[in-house]
Amino acid sequence: MGTRLLSTGRRRQGPPDRASADPAFPRRDGVLRCGDVSLEALAHEYSTPLYVYNGDRILERFHAVRGAFAPIDLLIAYSVKANPNLAVLRLLGEAGAGADIVSGGELYRTLRAGIDPERVVFAGVGKTRDEMRYALEQGIMAFHVESAQELAALGEVARGVGVIAPVAVRVNPDVHSPTHEFTRTGHASAKFGVSPDEAVLLYAAIVEHPGLSPVGVDVHIGSQIREPGPFLAALDVVLGVADRVRRACGADLRYADLGGGFGIADGEAGALDIHALAEGVADRLEGRSLSLVLEPGRFLVGDAGALLARVLYVKRSGGKTFVITDAGMTELIRPSHYGGVHAISLVCDGDKGAVERVDIVGPVCEQGDFLARDRRLPVPPPGALLCVRQAGAYGFTMASNYNSRPRPAEVLVHGGHATLARRREEYGDLVRGEHDD
Ligand SMILES: *Cc1c(COP(=O)(O)O)cnc(C)c1O
Repeated sequence: MGTRLLSTGRRRQGPPDRASADPAFPRRDGVLRCGDVSLEALAHEYSTPLYVYNGDRILERFHAVRGAFAPIDLLIAYSVKANPNLAVLRLLGEAGAGADIVSGGELYRTLRAGIDPERVVFAGVGKTRDEMRYALEQGIMAFHVESAQELAALGEVARGVGVIAPVAVRVNPDVHSPTHEFTRTGHASAKFGVSPDEAVLLYAAIVEHPGLSPVGVDVHIGSQIREPGPFLAALDVVLGVADRVRRACGADLRYADLGGGFGIADGEAGALDIHALAEGVADRLEGRSLSLVLEPGRFLVGDAGALLARVLYVKRSGGKTFVITDAGMTELIRPSHYGGVHAISLVCDGDKGAVERVDIVGPVCEQGDFLARDRRLPVPPPGALLCVRQAGAYGFTMASNYNSRPRPAEVLVHGGHATLARRREEYGDLVRGEHDD
């Protein structure tokens, strides 16, 4: 990892202006900043498109979750897929986070970042036997099993390795969560988890199996959920499963994992009230000997990240105004894939033109390549810098090389210092692994 330092520029002059009370990217003296570091200075130093993460904000969010659930015995297993950069993993790991992983590759990153495997839980409907073996050899905390066939495979692999696999069954609670259909996972027809009745049967099989041991019960109902209700309804279902398992097989589960999916404020709506959620969870866990696992991803890193894009051209055609930037769906696919709404603003006040309704689009050869549509924005001149907010989660991690576009650099700003967390890809990176002889 590079450790290039950047001067933090002027110290804070006045309070941030009210129009952008963004805790991670405040505006001061007419320029958006990450902490005290000017985003224009970062774009100048590292070029664009550029991902910028505010490490102080990530830690603030981590401690906010910790604080809200304070009296409860809690493991915060950060959901690695939201932002798997090693610098982010290291920051959270050092603060005490474990990890929620969905692949062998994520386990590899987690270990590289120094996170204790005993704090790692492994979810996903399609774990391969190789991935199971790797995770068993590393001694992870638990496998979150999602089907009977997966459970059987895990039992065989565990016996082959000569260890006992710690297991929690992922329950599909059949609750409806008001979020995009692609980020909804807790309804009966989703591919995730098993019904409560099937879960009880799987626990009976786990108890009988010499290579398996029941340790917890798991649920994850989706992403960007802004109400406590669906989480609490899901918790009621998994606690019911835990009770039935104790009665039916005498097994005492150690933890309940409520998953992630805690909604953040974005260009569309407000955040989940985690204090209200924590209260409901505490009520339900009272008098039980279960500890709690939470798997927040977006909630910890989403609003701590921004994508910086440079305006290339402004084009008026077909009655529309297109602001064409050097970033598009290859850097941030959420707008076109999930209908994700990101607040977008000009980094420098001086670049503001008359407000118009514009489409902010990228250079990729797809009509679905956009960052925002029909957005009111002061039309910027070519060369202006745009800040696309709430891009810390499901941003770079979903970036692609489509159109043979090198993936952007990532910078972590922490304690007033900017560090290159991943260098920009070069053309040579595009053909790495291909044979051209
Ligand atoms: C994606 C995922 C999460 C995290 O979701 P966020 O919306 O980022 O909090 C947690 N647990 C599981 C099993 C997931 O698949």
